[in-house]
Amino acid sequence: MRGVRTCCHPALFRHLCLLVCCLEGPLSVSLQNTSAVLLAACPCPLGLATPAALVVGTGRAARQGVFFKGGVQLEQLHKTKVVLIDKTGTITHGRPMITDILLTSHPSIQSQRQLLHLAGSAELSSGHPLARVIVEYASQYTRPVDPTEFLSFPGQGVRATVAGQQVLVGNLRLLKEHDVNVSGLPSCKDEWEKGGKTVALVAINRRIAGLIAVADTIKPSSRSAIRHLQALGMRVVMVSGDNVKTSNAVAREVGIGDVLAELTPEDKVRVIRHFQRQRYSVAMVGDGINDAPALAAADVGLAVGTGTDVALEAADVALIGADLEGVVQAILLSRATMRCIVQSFSWALLYNGITIPFAAIGWLNPLLAGAAMAFSSVTVVLNALRLKRSKLRV
Ligand code: ADP
Ligand code: MG
Repeated sequence: MRGVRTCCHPALFRHLCLLVCCLEGPLSVSLQNTSAVLLAACPCPLGLATPAALVVGTGRAARQGVFFKGGVQLEQLHKTKVVLIDKTGTITHGRPMITDILLTSHPSIQSQRQLLHLAGSAELSSGHPLARVIVEYASQYTRPVDPTEFLSFPGQGVRATVAGQQVLVGNLRLLKEHDVNVSGLPSCKDEWEKGGKTVALVAINRRIAGLIAVADTIKPSSRSAIRHLQALGMRVVMVSGDNVKTSNAVAREVGIGDVLAELTPEDKVRVIRHFQRQRYSVAMVGDGINDAPALAAADVGLAVGTGTDVALEAADVALIGADLEGVVQAILLSRATMRCIVQSFSWALLYNGITIPFAAIGWLNPLLAGAAMAFSSVTVVLNALRLKRSKLRV
């Protein structure tokens, strides 16, 4: 780059031309040809092509609410072949509503209020969307208290000690891992899940005490955004920590055929590695703490703006809204930026390829060579600026 600046320096160029023009004879001709070749061979436009396009591309993305943490990610995203999308909080709002509560016979639970008090207290410190809705709902009937012990199991649920009782709130995996007998689960669990609801199981002192069904709503833009991603040639896969039935119901609703459910955060990373081994470039879209390892492992991680700080920190791209259309825009912008870089490179190579031979055989005056070099650099910059307004269509 230092060499490039030296040969383009206007003062040096002017002095060189003046000196050359004052000379006569064969020395003058060879000096003129040499300076014309030097000027024609100046790789300014080549050096400008990539940074100019990346700067304009990231700027335009930011105006559209898509924040790339660097130019590399903008460049990387156009290679994406597989997009993995998390369910809760990413495809859905992650603001579920409690629709059903069922008590099983448990010696220490006599009423819904008692169950809600223990479940709400256990969930008090969890940032999961399900936890928030349980706490909110429980607060209408009782006053949740801070648990004496609290442990969160990402992708599974929570374990807490409330008023001396061990409370588990989460999915089947959580209960099984805590040796809770889950053989006699009521059949309504299956029905609720087939209807797309998520069922949080509550166990007190390692015995099932109740089931809380929550229905999450799908973001209005999710369906069209997923259709757009598929139209862009992406393989879209839903990766969820939720159970198979609920995940399938949501996937059907938004038009996703590939569903991987009941995944732990580590499983999500394993799925990414699986696609990467097949030489696919993978983008991961998520919102929760449970998505953070996958967001970091993917070739490009995109976090929705309503997600947790951990997810936003782990991702390469932060979308300002909750909308999945931001992912489509990010990919379109990345493709447009790469197109722009290729155009500028081709132009710069063409310019060098034509002007250097002409300069070498003395058919190009140094003044003209300098002007052509400047024109070429301006063209590259103008081409990059075009990105600011170019139409992005699926
Ligand atoms: P997704 O991958 O779809 O975003 P998560 O990995 O966040 O889902 O959660 C997976 C499942 O784990 C949830 O559907 C829920 O059953 C259970 N779960 C996770 N955290 C909690 C919690 N704090 N309270 C209750 N259940 C939870
Ligand atoms: Mg999520």
